Amino acid sequence: MASNPPKLKIEITSNERLKTLKEQFEARFGESPLFYACAPGRVNLIGEHIDYCGYSVLPMAIEQNILAAVSVNSLGTIQLANTNPQYQDFKVPCSEEIVIDREDPKWYYYFLCGVKGIQVRCVGGLCCGFMKQSLNILQFCILICFSILQERFGIARLAGMSCVVDGTIPPSSGLSSSSALVCCSGLLTMEANHKSLSKVALAEICAKSERYIGTEGGGMDQSISFLAEKGTAKLIEFQPLRATDVKLPEGAVFVISNCCVEMNKAASSHYNIRVVECRIATKMLAQARGLDPRGLLKLSQVQTELKASLEEMLVLVDEVLHPELYSREEICKVLDITSEQLCTELLSANTQHGG
Ligand code: ADP
Ligand code: MG
Repeated sequence: MASNPPKLKIEITSNERLKTLKEQFEARFGESPLFYACAPGRVNLIGEHIDYCGYSVLPMAIEQNILAAVSVNSLGTIQLANTNPQYQDFKVPCSEEIVIDREDPKWYYYFLCGVKGIQVRCVGGLCCGFMKQSLNILQFCILICFSILQERFGIARLAGMSCVVDGTIPPSSGLSSSSALVCCSGLLTMEANHKSLSKVALAEICAKSERYIGTEGGGMDQSISFLAEKGTAKLIEFQPLRATDVKLPEGAVFVISNCCVEMNKAASSHYNIRVVECRIATKMLAQARGLDPRGLLKLSQVQTELKASLEEMLVLVDEVLHPELYSREEICKVLDITSEQLCTELLSANTQHGG
């Protein structure tokens, strides 16, 4: 579990895809790649939309993946190209702060999520861990300063990189092409900058850094992308992140069909609406049972605090929440918060204007 991603020596000529990618890289950048990085997509077997509620999931990696050919350049720029002409070239100087435009989630912003994650080594997990304990104001300020320092002093100056990305995961089809891209980019950024991180650390960093694009995922996709192993699905549990083998039945074949209807998660609010709904439900359930809702953001945290079984949680949901839509006014009234608090503390950027 705590191991680092493996580095393999592969004969390029024995692999058609690598050979083509190498040629495309050479044609594009006039030199050979220094190394290749690869991260798989995934299919989830059990547990849809519950990772961001803190609950365990059972995904497995698929053979479709994001592969990148990389060289380190002395130009001080990150320059990106893609084997799929639908994804345009991109270039940014390493001296500039990495800016990710959530309003226009182009493919290279996912790539930059991975770069930025490694650069600043996102410390959100650390924050949440500490937040669970009761903090006084001074401790909280120290924690914030520590977080800011970490953000500032990750990698002071990124290495220039030239990359060609080649993906085989159908995009926006629920097989997590976005996370595979973020993970691949995090991995290659780590390697290009001579850093060393365990797979678990990489998974945690990439889970947080994909949120730069705006989707508030729970971490399943990045975890399985780094922690998957051949021949086994993985039970992924959170806080702390861990993965346990779940042997697949002998001879089992999994068929994944594609309805060819795409859903771009970052370009719409559908995904985050569900995340935010679960967050609001968490607060309401906590409030109804006399818990302090501050610091509770995930349904699993309420269950832990109440020492309740899943069945008891279902009863609680039926008792406390009504199936009809909640208005903003009602949410604010029930939670005893202002409309501003609702916006800043509970809603994501792309769910601010929902009814
Ligand atoms: P998914 O369910 O596949 O994760 P998302 O909507 O979250 O769907 O992410 C899809 C986005 O990921 C695409 O719009 C594109 O920006 C990016 N992406 C996926 N595959 C590739 C690829 N091969 N090359 C570049 N970007 C890709
Ligand atoms: Mg995605």
